[in-house]
Amino acid sequence: MLSISHAATGAFIAVKIGNPLLAVPLILASHYVEDAVPHWDAGTGLSKGKKTPKAAFRDEIIDIIVAGIIVLILFPVHISLTSPLTALLAAPVWGAFFGLLPDFLEAPRNFLKYEPRWLRPINKFHGRFHHSIPNVWAGLAPQVLLLSLIWAFR
Ligand SMILES: [Zn+2]
Repeated sequence: MLSISHAATGAFIAVKIGNPLLAVPLILASHYVEDAVPHWDAGTGLSKGKKTPKAAFRDEIIDIIVAGIIVLILFPVHISLTSPLTALLAAPVWGAFFGLLPDFLEAPRNFLKYEPRWLRPINKFHGRFHHSIPNVWAGLAPQVLLLSLIWAFR
C-alpha cells in the first residue's frame, strides 16, 4: 500500500497500544496484511510494468512527505524547539516508522539495485504478500476506506 496507509496504520496502533513491545510486532504484521490487499502504490508497475525507477522514486518521496503530514494531522505531536529529536519518541512517529520499515528495507533493492544478503529473506517474505494492481482507482479505494476508519477511530 501507499506509505500514507502504512504510516497512518502504524501511528494508529502505536497510539492505541502504547507499549512498543506489543505495538511493533502488530505494526509489522499490519504492513504485510495491508500489502496483501489488492492495491495501487508508488511502486506499482516498477517490476512488471512501464514505470521507471526515477518516476517510482519521485512518487515515493511525495508519498512519504504526504504520509508524514497526514500522520501529524491525525495524531498531533508536540515538537520542542529546544530538543526536537525527542519527537522521535512520540508514539505516532515511531509507529509510522515501523509501519514503513518493510518498504524502507526494500528501497535499496528497488532504487539502487543493491540488496545485502541478510535482507534477501526479509524482502522475499515481504514480496510474498505484496499484491499491487495497475488500476489506480480500484487500488486506492481500500486505502481511502482504511484512512477513513483510522480517522473515525483515532
Ligand atoms: Zn510493503
